[in-house]
Amino acid sequence: MLDYQAILEDIHNTLKSTEDTGDVASYIPELAKVSKDSFGIHLQLITGEDYSAGDYLEKFSIQSISKVFSLAKAFQLVGNSLLERVDVEPSGNPFNHLSLLELENGIPRNPLINAGAIVIADILLTHLENPKEDFLNFVRELAHDESIDYNETIAESEHETGFNNYAAANLLKSFGNLHNEVEDVLDFYFHQCSIMMSCRQLTNAFFVFTNKGKCLKNVEHLTASQVKRINAIMLTCGFYDEAGEFAFEVGLPGKSGVGGGIVALLPHCFTIATWSPALNPQGNSYLGMKALELFTSKTKLSIF
Ligand code: GLU
Repeated sequence: MLDYQAILEDIHNTLKSTEDTGDVASYIPELAKVSKDSFGIHLQLITGEDYSAGDYLEKFSIQSISKVFSLAKAFQLVGNSLLERVDVEPSGNPFNHLSLLELENGIPRNPLINAGAIVIADILLTHLENPKEDFLNFVRELAHDESIDYNETIAESEHETGFNNYAAANLLKSFGNLHNEVEDVLDFYFHQCSIMMSCRQLTNAFFVFTNKGKCLKNVEHLTASQVKRINAIMLTCGFYDEAGEFAFEVGLPGKSGVGGGIVALLPHCFTIATWSPALNPQGNSYLGMKALELFTSKTKLSIF
């Protein structure tokens, strides 16, 4: 039996002495206020045991990690019909890239780049009675944690500087792939990205993707086939234009966000989340990537 606690502490110590060459995201002004020095890691096994090190209880803005929750909710609501409006191919481009969207007639490459997540937000807006409230309740239900909430200051901060997302939403609208008003869809999208969660809350919520669709309390939220698809999308599209690198170095499906969080999982085995706010040039947490690479190298646990 592996000594997971010792492994996590060892990773934490190694990273403390590693120079962090990343930078915190500054294009959303509120994110630039976060200290670069935080680091947290939390591991949860499918059998329920959990292990942690560092600031694993501190909440941070999950940003793009929320796109996995919105995709899951959309699959729940409309099933495979969402694939008529968004593709499932890696983009090989940064998360906010627009030229492919124009070339491909307003069908985003996948649901985890911004344009794809904006289409998914549009689907949720159409199908949820109280979109922001219902979506938050879905995330709370997955994590079994009522304390999870939006951060209005971060949502407002992104609203003020989200020109690129306005461009994407307007382009989608011009191609007929946005059914609600641009302003309403982006208000929802900026809120979903602003959700604050800790590493521990993230591993709790992502348990459903490790456990074939059943959450921590054994309630079925998604079918095994939907979870297979979501995990495949995470593996191929979860890390902006660095998805290949993450599969190569870490070997797990996962998703990162510009708040510095990363969640990854080995189906039927474990879920792991890291948080370190400084990002590499591709927008993924610099030390988070290193931590996960160390974890799968030390434990020899990966999908490959
Ligand atoms: N809210 C961010 C944006 O749309 C999310 C980016 C991310 O975490 O990748 O720019």
